[in-house]
Amino acid sequence: MEPAGLEPPEMEPTCEAEEPPGSPSLPAEAPQDGPVAADPPGEGELPAAPCRERERGRCGTGPQGSAGRAARGRARRAPGRRSGGESARRPGVTVDSSKAKTSLEALKISLRQLRWKEFPFGRRLPCDIYWHGVSFHDNNIFSGQVNKFPGMMETVRKITLSRAMRTMQDLFPLEYNFYPRSWILPEELPLFVAEVRMLKDRNPSWKPTFIVKPDGGCQGDGIYLIKDPSDIRLTGSIQSRPAVVQEYICKPLLVDKLKFDIRLYVLLKSLEPLEIYIAKDGLSRFCTEPYQEPTLKNLHQVFMHLTNYSLNIHSGNFIHSDSVNTGSKRTFSSILCRLSSRGADVKKLWSDIISLVIKTIIALTPELKVYYQSDIPAGKPGPTCFQILGFDILLMKNLKPILLEVNANPSMRIEHEQELSPGVFENVPSPVDEEVKVAVIRDTLRLVDPQKKKRKDTHVTVPPEPQLRGVHEHPGPQEVSPRQGLGGVSSEGLPKPTPCAVVCCRCQSAEQEAGEELPEAALPSLCLKQVFPKYAKQFSYLRLVDRVAALFIRFLGVKGTTKLGPTGFRTFIRNCKLSNSNFSMAAVDILYIDITRRWNSMGIDHKESGMCLQAFVEAFFCLAQRKYKSLPLHDQVASLIELCECRLAALRGKRLVWGCG
Ligand code: ADP
Repeated sequence: MEPAGLEPPEMEPTCEAEEPPGSPSLPAEAPQDGPVAADPPGEGELPAAPCRERERGRCGTGPQGSAGRAARGRARRAPGRRSGGESARRPGVTVDSSKAKTSLEALKISLRQLRWKEFPFGRRLPCDIYWHGVSFHDNNIFSGQVNKFPGMMETVRKITLSRAMRTMQDLFPLEYNFYPRSWILPEELPLFVAEVRMLKDRNPSWKPTFIVKPDGGCQGDGIYLIKDPSDIRLTGSIQSRPAVVQEYICKPLLVDKLKFDIRLYVLLKSLEPLEIYIAKDGLSRFCTEPYQEPTLKNLHQVFMHLTNYSLNIHSGNFIHSDSVNTGSKRTFSSILCRLSSRGADVKKLWSDIISLVIKTIIALTPELKVYYQSDIPAGKPGPTCFQILGFDILLMKNLKPILLEVNANPSMRIEHEQELSPGVFENVPSPVDEEVKVAVIRDTLRLVDPQKKKRKDTHVTVPPEPQLRGVHEHPGPQEVSPRQGLGGVSSEGLPKPTPCAVVCCRCQSAEQEAGEELPEAALPSLCLKQVFPKYAKQFSYLRLVDRVAALFIRFLGVKGTTKLGPTGFRTFIRNCKLSNSNFSMAAVDILYIDITRRWNSMGIDHKESGMCLQAFVEAFFCLAQRKYKSLPLHDQVASLIELCECRLAALRGKRLVWGCG
C-alpha cells in the first residue's frame, strides 16, 4: 500500500539564468500545478521563491540569498544595532553556542537574523537552547532543548541503519525498496556470497556491482567497488572494522553527464509525538569525472563513482560554485528546475522523497526511543531534543530516489577552502552552502522557539496567520486552515489562486498587524515543511516495530538501561501469557540466551549485558511466527503485538481494580 501523492514543498526557483531561452518557466510547476504543502499552523506563507528570485534586488532585504548576505553583513558590522520596528520585539531566546563546533558560523548568522541571544562561552544560568556540534552528551544539561537526540549517532551508523532497514524490508518489502539490498560484514559474508550466487543462477544476465562501506566511515573513507563477492578485501580491515556491502546503483540520473547525489535536511522536531519537517531546498554534490557504468576498468575511479564533496574537491575538475546552479555543488532546487524544464514529474519526485524520509525515520524511531528513555527517563525535567539530519539520496535514471545514508551531524559549514595561489589556501564563503544551511538552522530555531510555544500554550485560540499582508499576485501557496494546515484546494484538486501570504520585505513594516509580536514577520517563510504528523494517517500502519519497542521499554525495568535482562524477558512472556505447554518457560530462557548471545557476539555494544532492542525484535518475530504460522510476517507480528497490548491492558485493569479494592 503506497501512500497517495504527497504534496511537494514549494520550491524556490534558482535557475533562471541557466535555463535555455524558451524553456518553460520552471519552479512554478511544483507549487502551482497541484495542492501545495501547507504551512505548519501559525506560520505565514511567503512566496519566497517568486518574490526572492524575480524581485531579487528589488525586494531586497530578505535574510536569504544575496539580499540575505547583505543583511547578514549589516548584522555582522553592527550586531547590537536594531532597525526600526525591532525595538518592539520580545526579548530574545537564549542559546548556548559554546559546543557548536563547525556549525558555529551558520548558527551565529541565524541568531543574528532572529535577534536571539547567543552565549558563545556558555552560561552559568540555564539557556533555552543548547546547540551541539557532535552529540547530545557534549554538555551536561538538565533543562531547555538540545539540538541532538541521545543515541542518534549510533542509530544512523551504516550497520545499524542497514539492520533497521532490513527489519522494515522483512515486514514491508515494497514500501522499503528505496534502500539498496545490503549485507553486514564480516558476519553475513557467507549469506552475501550465497544470495548473490542464487540471484545470478536465477538471472544469468544480472551483472551486479557492489559497494563496500566501512561502518562508522564518512566522506567516502575506505569505500570501494567490487564486481564479485570474492573481491572483498578480507585481510585485516574487515575483521577489525565491520562494513556494509550494498548493491551499487549502476544507473543514476546524470546531469551534465555527471553523477550527483542530494543532501536533504530533515528536522526531527520531536520523537513522541513524532514530528518531522523537510527542508524545501538541499544540496546536490557532483562527481568530477563523466559517469560510465561500472566496469572492471573504471571501478576504482572515485571521481566518477563517489559524489563526496571531500573527495571531489581534490579533483582538478572540481568547480567551486559561485552561484546556486553551477559548479560541483549546487542547490537541489536548481536541479529540480532543470528536470522540470525537461518535462520531469517533479511533484511525484517530491512525493517519493517525502515518503522515503518518513519511512526511514519510522525505521529509526524504535532504537531512538530506547536511548531516549535511558538518558531522559520519564519524569526527568529535561532537556527535550530536536535534531537536523542529513539525508543522502541518489536519484535513479527513472527518478526513483534511493537512500544512501543518514547523517546525524551533517556538515553545516558555510565556507570552503580555496587555493588562492599555489600552496596558499584560504577559507572563503560558499554562497550555495550559506543559502541552504543558514535557512535550515534559522528555521529550525524558529520551529523550536520556546517562547512561541509558551505563547501558544497561553492562547486558547489558534493565533491568526500572519498572512495576507503584502497582497501580491502570486499564485501557489494557498490559504491555510490554522487547525488543519490544509486547504485552499479547488474542486479540481488544484490550489486556488489565492493571494499569497506575503510578508514582502518592502511591505512588512508598513503593514504589520497591530499587536504583531512574532519576529517571523520580518523573516522569510519557513524553509522547513511539516510532513509528519501531516501525513501520519498514510504511514501509521508501518509503525509496528515502534510498538514492539514500547513493549521492550516497558519491561526494561531499571531506569537508565538499554538492554533487557532475563528476568525482564520472562516477565514479558508471563504478563503477555505467551508460554504454554508447547512453549515452556525453559524454552523461553533458551530463546533469550540464544538470541542475546548471538547479538552480543556481533560486538555492537559491550557496555551493558542483556538483550538489545534488535535482539528483542528478533525474538518477538520468532514468537509471532510460532504462534501465527500461516500468516505473512507482518500479519504475524501485528497479531502478536495486538495480543500483547490487549493482555497488558487487561492486567493493568485488574491491578487497578485490586488497587481500588
Ligand atoms: P560516506 O559516509 O563515506 O560518504 P556513503 O554511503 O554516503 O558513505 O557513500 C559515499 C558515496 O558513494 C555516496 O555519496 C555515493 O556517491 C556513493 N554510493 C554509496 N552507496 C551507493 C550505492 N548503493 N549505489 C551507488 N552509489 C553509492
